[in-house]
Amino acid sequence: MSINENLQKIKYQINEAEKKSGRQENCVKLMAVSKFHPVDEILQAVNAGQFLFGENRVQEAAEKFPEIFTKFPGIELHMIGQLQSNKVKKAVQIASCIQSVDTIKLLNEINNQCEKLNKNINILFEVHTGEDSKSGFSDETELFKAVELCASGQLKNVHPKGFMTMAPFTNDEKLIRESFIKLRKLKESLQNQYRNLDLSELSMGMSGDFKLAIEEGSTMVRVGTAIFGERNYSSK
Ligand SMILES: *Cc1c(COP(=O)(O)O)cnc(C)c1O
Repeated sequence: MSINENLQKIKYQINEAEKKSGRQENCVKLMAVSKFHPVDEILQAVNAGQFLFGENRVQEAAEKFPEIFTKFPGIELHMIGQLQSNKVKKAVQIASCIQSVDTIKLLNEINNQCEKLNKNINILFEVHTGEDSKSGFSDETELFKAVELCASGQLKNVHPKGFMTMAPFTNDEKLIRESFIKLRKLKESLQNQYRNLDLSELSMGMSGDFKLAIEEGSTMVRVGTAIFGERNYSSK
């Protein structure tokens, strides 16, 4: 199947999952995760109407996306992979959102770099909700401090929008669901506590589990393999 056909199929499946769970039609955004896939495949997705993309590695994104932005200024890129401090400057130049904020140190560095560039950026707090994922805040106290720091208004260039997680890599539907439920409950409780922030985004669900994620309240699914096919890790 072509990238276009894959996109149409996934959009249909997203719609079905929205209906099944009694949610409003089109309330779930689709991000195309294009890591390890070349520019021409990304452009095929763009031509099929896709405008939101996600990449894991700053270097790879910086090699591919500037030419895409030049051709299609409406395209949006989010960073979704673990981010080292020395890559933040480049990341905030190309992305409109960093979904993988998992330390206060990183949060401060993102704000510093944005201040220098006189730019604002959206962020999501990435939360560790499943056993075998390594990334994300695993210490709730640190997460609460990070949210508090944003609510205090000290980080003028950083706009928190919500939360991101990766479910554990397992076929056990119950464990996957638990991970999504955990993120949703965390969001509800922090949104209740910090009413001056908009924490409504729940970025959860990938190729293998996006239907479950939508049933559990996802507002954005991040789909790679089901759109672009298997990634060829050996070519990079
Ligand atoms: C690679 C990746 C995805 C997409 O995974 P697929 O299984 O290919 O859909 C989503 N989120 C993150 C954080 C990723 O690293």
